[in-house]
Amino acid sequence: MNAALREQVRLRAQGRCESCQLPDAVTELPHEADHIRAVKHDGPTEMANLAWACARCNDFKGSDVSAYVPATDKLVRLFNPRMDVWSEHFVWDGALLRGKSDMARATIALLKINSDRRVIYRQLLMDDGLFEFLAP
Ligand SMILES: [Zn+2]
Repeated sequence: MNAALREQVRLRAQGRCESCQLPDAVTELPHEADHIRAVKHDGPTEMANLAWACARCNDFKGSDVSAYVPATDKLVRLFNPRMDVWSEHFVWDGALLRGKSDMARATIALLKINSDRRVIYRQLLMDDGLFEFLAP
């Protein structure tokens, strides 16, 4: 992927992970332009298939496109920022991210968005005014 396309993806997302909203200015590991539909599943390298993702979300997502809703056997597709509106599926509860839909709950679980370390880190950023909630 060329640098210009990567920068377009970053700018469209305002520098925030499109799943957990972590700003790229406050991370040690660089955010990445994630293929929503992975290259190995014939996903194209174009704006409509790319999402700005923090390293953690990107690593845990891998090439997955679906996940199980926690504590169920229900398989659902993952949140797709090109198809779905973030605020319709997620809501902040302090530093915890809550899912309003099965898809969001499955995404939060698969991407480990509420792991202890990530919640603590977000809380520290919030305390320092470095993590602001996006307007719905
Ligand atoms: Zn993230």
